[in-house]
Amino acid sequence: MSVHNQVGNQPEADELFGLLEQLFPITRSITGQGVRTSLAILQEHAPLNIVEYSSGTKVYDWTIPKEWNIQDAYIADENGNRIVDYQENGLHVVGYSIPINSKMSFTELLPYLHTLPNLPNAIPYRTSYYKESWGFCLTQNQLDTMDHSADYEVVIRSELTEGSLVLGEALLKGESEKELLISTYCCHPWMANDNQSGMVVATFLHRYLAQKKKLRYSYRFVWLPETIGAITYLAHNEEVMKAIEGGFVISCCGGQGKISYKETYLGNHLMDRAVMLAFRDQGIEPWMRPFAPDGSDERQYSMPAFRIPMCTISKDKYYDYRYYHTSLDDLEFVSGDNLLATYRLYIDAIEILEKNVTYKTLMPYCEPQLGRRGLYPLTGGGVNQSVNDEESVNSVSAQLDAITWMMFLADGGADLVTIAERSGQPIDSLFEAAEKLKEKGLLEITCE
Ligand code: ZN
Repeated sequence: MSVHNQVGNQPEADELFGLLEQLFPITRSITGQGVRTSLAILQEHAPLNIVEYSSGTKVYDWTIPKEWNIQDAYIADENGNRIVDYQENGLHVVGYSIPINSKMSFTELLPYLHTLPNLPNAIPYRTSYYKESWGFCLTQNQLDTMDHSADYEVVIRSELTEGSLVLGEALLKGESEKELLISTYCCHPWMANDNQSGMVVATFLHRYLAQKKKLRYSYRFVWLPETIGAITYLAHNEEVMKAIEGGFVISCCGGQGKISYKETYLGNHLMDRAVMLAFRDQGIEPWMRPFAPDGSDERQYSMPAFRIPMCTISKDKYYDYRYYHTSLDDLEFVSGDNLLATYRLYIDAIEILEKNVTYKTLMPYCEPQLGRRGLYPLTGGGVNQSVNDEESVNSVSAQLDAITWMMFLADGGADLVTIAERSGQPIDSLFEAAEKLKEKGLLEITCE
C-alpha cells in the first residue's frame, strides 16, 4: 500500500526525530524517575495512562525489584578531576548500581570497570538489576589513560528504595472486541535506536490510529520496561490478553542498516502475511529473521499460557548492528527518515489488517459484463495495448486486473490478504476494485 493512501495525521521525519532527541538524554532503567519523565513526554503526543506496580509484588516467577534512582556518579583522579563522569553520559554507570563512596587503587577498581576493547571509543551499556552490585562503563581509550599506580575516588550517589515499576498504557476502541497489541520498551538510557526509536514509533502509531474515523480492531498500546514490565503487565491482565489476536513488539526502528522482519512464533500467521504484503507493495525485500525465543518481549507474550503471535519490523534490529548496546547508538546513528521508513511499514501492515475482510461475488457464473457497468473500456481491444498515453493505459489495465482477480477469487472463502497473495495485485488496487464492485452490486462482504 502506498503511503499516499494512508489517512490521518502523518508525521514528518523531523517530528519523529524531535521526539527522539527529547528522550535521548534521560537515564531510564526498569524503574525510577527516568521512566516517569519519559512517559510524561510521550503523554504530550498520546493520552497514555501511567500505571504503577509496587516493589516486592510477585509476578509469576519474578518479583518487582526496588526502585532505582541516581543523582550522580564519577571516578575522580588524585587531583579531583572527574575522569569518568555520569553527568556527561548516563551509560557511564552500570544500571542499578548500589551507592558507593570510596577511595581505591586502580587494581581494586579494575574489576568494576567495563569496556569494549574492539570498539575503543564506545561506552558499553551494562546493568545489574537482580544482583546488588556496582560498576562503571567507559571507553577503552579512557581506561588506557588511567594510571595503574594511582588511587581513585569512586562515587555513586544512587538509591534503591521500596517504590514501583511504572508503565504506560493506552487503549483505542475499535468496532471489534478483538485487539491488536502494540508493545515497546522504555527502559534503556542514552541510546537512540535501542530503544528510544521504538518508543517514538509506537507513540506516532497511536496518534495515527487515534485520528482514524473508523477502526476495525481495538488497539492496546503499552510502553513498559523490557522483560519485568511485560511479565508484570501479563500477570495483571491475563483475561484481557485472551482478546488479543496478535501484535507488534516495536524496537530498533531508526538505524542505518537493512530493514529486517522477525516473524511471529507461528511464522505464517495473519500478522506475518500482512507484514509481508506491506513489504511487497512497498517494493522492499526485508532481511528475514525467523522467530527465536530471545530478543524482546515477544518471548513473554508468545509463551504457552498466552500464545500471542508478535512480530517486529526493525532497522537495524538489536544484535545485528555493531553499535548495539553502546554509546555509539546515538543521535548520529539514527535518522528521521529511517524512523519514518519503519513507521510506514507498520502503518501499511496495520492498514492491511484493518481492510482484511472476506468478499463474495454475487455473480459466480462466468464473468460479469463490466462494460455495461462502466468498469471496462467501452472500445474493445485496447486493453493491455500501448497507445499514446502509456500511463493511463497502464492504470486502466491495472484497475481492470484488480477487478478481474477480485471477481475470480472472491468466492466467500478468501479474505483480502489471501486474494492479494494469490493474485500478486497490490492491496490498494484490490481494495479499490472491491469498493467499486460492491457499489455495482457485484460483490458483498461475508465476514468482517
Ligand atoms: Zn537492548
